Amino acid sequence: MSALVTVEGLQHLYEGRKVLDVERLEVVEGEILAVVGPNGSGKSTLLRILNLLERPTRGEVRFWNGLSLSGMARAERRELGRQMAMIFQEPLLFKRSVRANVEYGLKARRVDREERRRLAGEMLARLNLSDFAERDAMTLSGGEAQKVTLGRAMVLRPRLLLLDEPLASLDAPSRKDLRAYISGMVREMGVTAVYVSHDYHEVLEIADRLAVLIDGTLLQTGRPGEVFGRPASDVVAEFLGAENLLEGTVRECRGGMAVLDVAGVELEALCELPQGSRVKALIHPEEIALLADALDTGSVRNRLRSRVAGMRVLGGLVKVELDCGFPLVAHITRASREEMGIEPGAEVTAAIKATAIHVMPFTGRGP
Ligand code: ADP
Repeated sequence: MSALVTVEGLQHLYEGRKVLDVERLEVVEGEILAVVGPNGSGKSTLLRILNLLERPTRGEVRFWNGLSLSGMARAERRELGRQMAMIFQEPLLFKRSVRANVEYGLKARRVDREERRRLAGEMLARLNLSDFAERDAMTLSGGEAQKVTLGRAMVLRPRLLLLDEPLASLDAPSRKDLRAYISGMVREMGVTAVYVSHDYHEVLEIADRLAVLIDGTLLQTGRPGEVFGRPASDVVAEFLGAENLLEGTVRECRGGMAVLDVAGVELEALCELPQGSRVKALIHPEEIALLADALDTGSVRNRLRSRVAGMRVLGGLVKVELDCGFPLVAHITRASREEMGIEPGAEVTAAIKATAIHVMPFTGRGP
């Protein structure tokens, strides 16, 4: 895995206010790296810096050709810029035919007419837009127009594709369609992509890695499963919509195993933080087993007597709201709900392994 782009010690200030602080970030060759975070967290600023549209206040970006941001000659910048393409939320098309729009970048690169035709024709066919080739681009729907901007970018075979909320102004079916084209083409053509979105749901299926950027600070990078399973902090967990993020303190800690106090209830968890630490504990709802009989829990460390406070059926899954001294949500299958006769008001035991509790330091910035 070699880095196509390496960001180091990057800081950016607008009017004296720091809006970006990225100690280190690598964009790995061939990956789709999704940069996610709430609006205003600096995602677009980061993309603009990568795309050479903005000079950072401090720090360095190293590119694949060995060049670094600082000390790059104008001609080198231009050449590097030509190896990147960017797609924005709004499809920026010219009032020309769809074909002319796709050919635009090729023309700017002085590709001859015949070759332009051939490449644009292939690209339109790949996007199932051949029938639209002679249409005025202004008459396209939002989804079609964004497909044309994708074609216009990809026909140039960029080394790095930068996407800034490319689906944000589309309806749900067009989003799904375009997302499939983006990931399909990026993979097929071996392009590396940095995909920015405020909505992590949008990128979960297509991202190889996530970079979580909140309030300008890069808080975590990793594969989506890792970041969801073990968020680096309560702030990341909160942004990812984690359920069962519980506030507590470390009552004792020995050999990597701790007893936590959560609202007066003891929970055993793997944890290295010293006694007295304030923590947030994350328990994924699917890691909680519900048992009608408290004895039937094997080696599971935590057995919490609970009352069923509420229930919601979500397809094949049932979301059970428990009161076990603090509110806790468990996900079980419909079949096991029926088998156990779980109803509001019922008494059950929630069984949670010590390894299923992910403990994070309490930053005070979470909920
Ligand atoms: P995101 O893409 O995550 O929504 P942005 O990178 O657009 O975030 O913005 C990060 C912060 O920088 C925001 O607070 C925004 O208001 C501010 N900002 C962005 N561009 C400018 C600018 N040109 N001048 C001043 N402040 C800016």
